[in-house]
Amino acid sequence: MAGEPQDDCLFCKIVAGHIPATIVRETETTVAFRDINPQAPTHVLVIPRLHYPHAASLAAAAPAVAADVLREAGEVAADEKLDHYRVVFNTGGGAGQTVFHAHAHVLGGRGLQWPPG
Ligand code: 5GP
Ligand code: ZN
Repeated sequence: MAGEPQDDCLFCKIVAGHIPATIVRETETTVAFRDINPQAPTHVLVIPRLHYPHAASLAAAAPAVAADVLREAGEVAADEKLDHYRVVFNTGGGAGQTVFHAHAHVLGGRGLQWPPG
């Protein structure tokens, strides 16, 4: 069923505590943890506890939770004392999405070029 945990999903396993992660914030609806392969001094992933394959499907099915993800991205940036930062939702393999459980990348702590290439 839409939103239900998926056995083969890495981020559902992190939500369930079956795979360890360095969690920096948690709410009833979201978990934020450090990326295992950081691309910037701060690189935190904010995910909904619910499983949806990408940000758009999350926003369509559970808009309040999508808003929670965005708010938590801002809270992570505040916790990390980032004056400027980027929030990225890679969507589709061609755009670099490798984990098909919606997640926001919060990147900061260095200068960021645009577009990334
Ligand atoms: P995507 O490429 O789908 O936008 O982002 C997935 C992110 O998950 C990547 O930046 C990758 O480094 C991160 N990642 C993959 N496996 C793990 C893991 O086991 N633990 C953590 N903390 N991050 C992971
Ligand atoms: Zn999942």
